[in-house]
Amino acid sequence: MQTVPQTPPTMSDSESGVATRATRCRATHCRATHCDVLIVGSGYGASVAAARLACAGHNVTVLERGRRWRPGDFPRRLPGAARTFHVRWRGRRLVGRSDSLFQLDIGDSIAVLTGSGIGGTSLINANVLLQPEPDVWSNPRWPTALLGDDGKPDASFQAAEQRALHMLGATRATRWEGSPKTRALIEGGYDATIATLAVTMSDGPNGADVFQTSCTGCGNCVAGCNVGAKNTVDRNYLALAQANGATIRERHEVISLRRNPAENRWVVTVDVTEPGSRRKIAGFVSIARRRRPIRTGRCYSPPGDRNR
Ligand SMILES: Cc1cc2nc3c(=O)[nH]c(=O)nc-3n(C[C@H](O)[C@H](O)[C@H](O)COP(=O)(O)OP(=O)(O)OC[C@H]3O[C@@H](n4cnc5c(N)ncnc54)[C@H](O)[C@@H]3O)c2cc1C
Repeated sequence: MQTVPQTPPTMSDSESGVATRATRCRATHCRATHCDVLIVGSGYGASVAAARLACAGHNVTVLERGRRWRPGDFPRRLPGAARTFHVRWRGRRLVGRSDSLFQLDIGDSIAVLTGSGIGGTSLINANVLLQPEPDVWSNPRWPTALLGDDGKPDASFQAAEQRALHMLGATRATRWEGSPKTRALIEGGYDATIATLAVTMSDGPNGADVFQTSCTGCGNCVAGCNVGAKNTVDRNYLALAQANGATIRERHEVISLRRNPAENRWVVTVDVTEPGSRRKIAGFVSIARRRRPIRTGRCYSPPGDRNR
């Protein structure tokens, strides 16, 4: 990636797919100059796309505004958790840094909490995997290509779902069936059905062949798993993407996407946050002809668009 350019770099057709004109970048960890497929964000949507496109042989780059979090890095107490919050009001920063773990965006009529980091909201969610109720499929917005003649997911969709459950390490947490909390819920008349979770219950390799340790039942899933048992997508889909050549950049916040019609390519402006600082370094990535950036995340938007 080049820094603070006045004009976008140019690349000839023959250079497609190859990093070019690698000038020195002030962010030492930032080297990408060009890719075939650019994926913005690294949550569920992003990581599945990155893994499948990388496995299919595409030159994939993932840009994530947050940092990489490893077991042991996550906050253990409330004061520590407060320091990992970035709060914005109408798109303007109130407190925290854009590479913080918890992102709270407050708008006029809605506030949204998301996770930020390599793995997206999977880092801070409860990892409960619910099967959709049958009437979900009656929504006409579903692409008909996914549904069979009976209006239900067809066999290829069901096979893909099984593959996803395998990659996410879906398991029923029967270990907690007799726990005091479960018993108390049942005694209180609540439905205490044990849910399917994306959590590792015995040590071993996951669907991407990454070793994970077993859940200890500490209950700190939503503050981030310090044990390494939660099956966050950095440990499965993104690991698979990386093993197949994808480049994953942390602390790279996409600021704008612009088409350069003269060269028939996309130019993506990025703010790179330096570790431990709020200092931003501008940079950009260009994407090969006829490809589009994939914007993932249900809440993704470049900061300029955030309040729309
Ligand atoms: C506390 C909590 C608990 C939850 N529990 C569950 C649960 O148990 N089960 C369940 O099914 N769902 C749960 N969810 C919801 C689930 O986590 C989300 O639906 C899911 O993560 C959405 O995935 P995504 O790919 O759309 O986006 P995300 O996972 O949110 O990923 C988006 C990524 O894009 C990055 N990004 C955004 N803008 C930019 C930019 N400009 N440049 C670069 N990167 C950017 C973000 O930093 C983030 O990493 C929970 C959510 C929360 C907040």
